[in-house]
Amino acid sequence: MTKQTTMTSQDGTKMTESSYVGGRWVLGNGPALTSDNPTSGERVLDYRSLTAEEVAEAVRVTREAAVGWGATAPLARAGIVNRMADRVEQAASELTDLVVAEVGKPLREASEEVDRAVAILRYHAQAALDPHGETIPDASGRAVLFTAREPLGTVGLITPWNFPVAIFTWKLAPALAYGNSVLIKPAPHAALTAKRMVQLWEDLLPPGVLNIAQGGAEVGALVASSRLDGISFTGSTAAGMRVAGAALESGARYQGELGGKNASIVLRSADMDASIATIVRAAFGFSGQKCTATSRVIVERAVADEFTERLQTAVEAVVVGDPASEATEFGPLIEPAAAGRVDGFVQRAVADGAKLLSGGRALPEFGPGYYAPTVVAADPHSELAQTEVFGPVLSLIVADTADEAVVIANDNDYGLAAAVFTQDLEYALRIARQLVASSIRVNGPTPGVPFNAPFGPWKMSGVGLPEQGKTAQHFFTRERTVSIGIG
Ligand code: NAD
Repeated sequence: MTKQTTMTSQDGTKMTESSYVGGRWVLGNGPALTSDNPTSGERVLDYRSLTAEEVAEAVRVTREAAVGWGATAPLARAGIVNRMADRVEQAASELTDLVVAEVGKPLREASEEVDRAVAILRYHAQAALDPHGETIPDASGRAVLFTAREPLGTVGLITPWNFPVAIFTWKLAPALAYGNSVLIKPAPHAALTAKRMVQLWEDLLPPGVLNIAQGGAEVGALVASSRLDGISFTGSTAAGMRVAGAALESGARYQGELGGKNASIVLRSADMDASIATIVRAAFGFSGQKCTATSRVIVERAVADEFTERLQTAVEAVVVGDPASEATEFGPLIEPAAAGRVDGFVQRAVADGAKLLSGGRALPEFGPGYYAPTVVAADPHSELAQTEVFGPVLSLIVADTADEAVVIANDNDYGLAAAVFTQDLEYALRIARQLVASSIRVNGPTPGVPFNAPFGPWKMSGVGLPEQGKTAQHFFTRERTVSIGIG
């Protein structure tokens, strides 16, 4: 394992080298940053951001490494990505604990995330050997005409903190497997998890093929406009749209996977016990801090009273506690300020006449970043029911009919994930087709993205090509047409 190198700054703080450029760990000379445990408030990492000159150097080494890595045989690249999976598997328990400590994700969910990253790495290692072109009849009959894909070249990956292992991996694995050199800009709240993963892999990859530039939005903006060949971003819609402008202006291919306001529809024909259990997990898992979390539940009036009462009972039973405990279902938000931000949404809704059904308050008895699982009977057009809160707040809306439920679900700027709960096959199929979202579940939770199927980006939930599955090949390679004359 690589030795942690720390340096003491003028005020006595021990700063850890956390950026990785051209095969070397560097401290950076930009502003000091911290990553803090959201549960205990303890410091996880003191580090520094890179300066503009240091980001430029990271871009330079990423470019320099692209030619050699792109020319490496696909089987050799696949072998390396497979070994990266082995390393994550071997370090699974350490990485799980780190995710719990750094972003406050409950242990069981953190462990599932790490397992998923292993599967993602193995899937993309194999996919790099899949067919990637077609032969086309030449119209004149005097040429062999075919398409072939080559690596895009250099890519910048800008990632959020909420899936610090899985999202990091689902961008990185196809980027490397398809032959691109990479500059990653991880979220500042998850800087140590990013560093640790790269440490696990550093001896597997030639210097410059995988680089990390640590820092906040300014470093992300530098990466976005650095004229790399592609930028793949995951984060909020506001930031992702700004990054889109910078990336496209600099000539990069851009992919943005952005926010969501995901609806679950519950019809009179639903299995009530199963749908309530699923929706509670979908809304309050990781305290609602998932792009795909259910944040609106739209219930058919015929079962609305029964559903509401039983939902309240289930929400009160959610096990709140220390995310490091196996029994905990619900931990803190990413930082204390997030609890205040979430409360602002709830209080404004209540002041506007919405009815609070559960929660609606901070939980200081657990810690400063805890906010209770909250259900609010909200107007479908209100701020609460339209805006991404990114916290544990579920808007409950009653619809007279299934058709009205679909209209309400679709009346939103986002189009990430949606679900319908019914035992009636005809309704299941019809509504699954009518819901305007890229990921649809029938009788299942809106979160939990299959890594081998396309995901996003519809409406304001994204820009560009979908991620994951075979479509990852389309973003991380470019296709050319070749014609060979035959007389
Ligand atoms: P964020 O937008 O604040 O930050 C995401 C990343 O972008 C971070 O690395 C951040 O430092 C960087 N960044 C922020 N502003 C930037 C700018 N102007 N230029 C360049 N880089 C910039 O998001 P977050 O708080 O880390 O994550 C939560 C958000 O991510 C939510 O909106 C959630 O819905 C979304 N998300 C989407 C998906 C998806 O696949 N669609 C998955 C997870 C999270």
